[in-house]
Amino acid sequence: MCYSIPGKVISINDNAALLDYFGEKKEALVDVEDIKSGDYVFAQGGVIVQKLGEDEAQSILAGWEELFFKLQEKDRILSEENPPPLNPLPPGEGKQSAFPPPLTGGGEACPEHSRRGEGGLDILPILQKNRAGETLTKDELLSLLKCDNKEELALLYKTANSIRHKIHKNASCVHGIIEFSNYCKNDCAYCGIRSENRNIERYRMGVDEIVNEVVSAVNNYGFKAFVLQSGEDSYFTTERLVEIISRIRKSVGVLLILSIGERDLECYRELYDAGARGVLIRFETASPSLYSSIHTTLQYENRLTLLKGVKDIGYLIATGSLIGLPGQSEEDILNDILFAHSLNTEMYSFGPLIPHPDTPLAGSHAVSLDAMLKMIAVTRLITQDGNILVTSAVEKLFGKEGVRQALMAGGNSMMINLTPEKYGRLYSIYPGKGDGSGNIRGKITETLSLLHSLGRAPMDVGM
Ligand code: SF4
Repeated sequence: MCYSIPGKVISINDNAALLDYFGEKKEALVDVEDIKSGDYVFAQGGVIVQKLGEDEAQSILAGWEELFFKLQEKDRILSEENPPPLNPLPPGEGKQSAFPPPLTGGGEACPEHSRRGEGGLDILPILQKNRAGETLTKDELLSLLKCDNKEELALLYKTANSIRHKIHKNASCVHGIIEFSNYCKNDCAYCGIRSENRNIERYRMGVDEIVNEVVSAVNNYGFKAFVLQSGEDSYFTTERLVEIISRIRKSVGVLLILSIGERDLECYRELYDAGARGVLIRFETASPSLYSSIHTTLQYENRLTLLKGVKDIGYLIATGSLIGLPGQSEEDILNDILFAHSLNTEMYSFGPLIPHPDTPLAGSHAVSLDAMLKMIAVTRLITQDGNILVTSAVEKLFGKEGVRQALMAGGNSMMINLTPEKYGRLYSIYPGKGDGSGNIRGKITETLSLLHSLGRAPMDVGM
């Protein structure tokens, strides 16, 4: 089964190839040898990861063609440009804050939170300004994040989805992820595998096991992009990671994305040379004071330096923040989006905080689905062409319907967890994280059927 559609190389200019996908043109970086015009390739995250023989490519394309155009039409209809007329609810209705109150002992909302949503916001002119290609001010963006009128929110999500469609057409990304160690030396206040949590069983996959799992997932299930994720586990030295990456890259054509925490830039440089091409590391919050309130072992400045450093090395960047941190305001959320955008992020990864009982944030409140959708939609308005991940935490908190709504609010990227079942339930960064791990074919079928129901095709140019 394939999750990517082969693209035909139309032209090559320096290291950039122009690819054709049933008439759609996309650019990708040439990262494998001997590519020339007329070749068929798989590209992921804007990087060519594999060359195919013409017969194999034609056979995959023949299997896709009819479905592709049907999906494209469905997506076009679902994301039609005409915005619905505004018909605001009577004043006062649907005006509760979508954000949890800060933890203030008794859990009462502060006056600032109580005031949110008042004022009868009318977002239509703001959306029209965005659609006209004008840059929105911070105040206008904040109005969108503070909006809680259902009619207006529907318009915001629809606008974001139409931008997604205009830029990406019906392309969507489905990446595999494997969590190879839940050891971590850090103590992030929101994370269930923090070093201080003595209530979990720790595991570490062996080098051979990791390589075999990834290679077999690529060969058996057709994944073309893979995230290698772990806690910050010093057992996995640069040498071990180089071995894992090079063995995988020698065996299969796949985009490897590292989610292994803070390492020095020299380590990341060696891992790039070994064949890794993406780094997934969230900054968690762009507020230095919030950051220091949830971290004891990590420094805000170091995280920012790392993100900029890996970008300079040449990595694709996937980053974002946690939404729902105690005391976090809509302004903080907006700053998170703007900061991620300023990093030239290729994939935005914003996740809702799901309070874990074995962490200092056990008593926090989870955010509403609308808070999450607003974040995705406003990110789409700001970034336009970035890829926006609908995280597994969104699915955990809001179910498949939440994922569907996130995909219809500007999201275009998903991940399927391929961690072996015996480990998956132990990678409990939030409660219930590994539930249902093991049934890989079932998860793939569910994901594809959801994407197809929305007219999306996992083309995978663009991470
Ligand atoms: S969030 Fe990452 S770095 Fe922090 S404790 Fe969890 S695994 Fe470790």
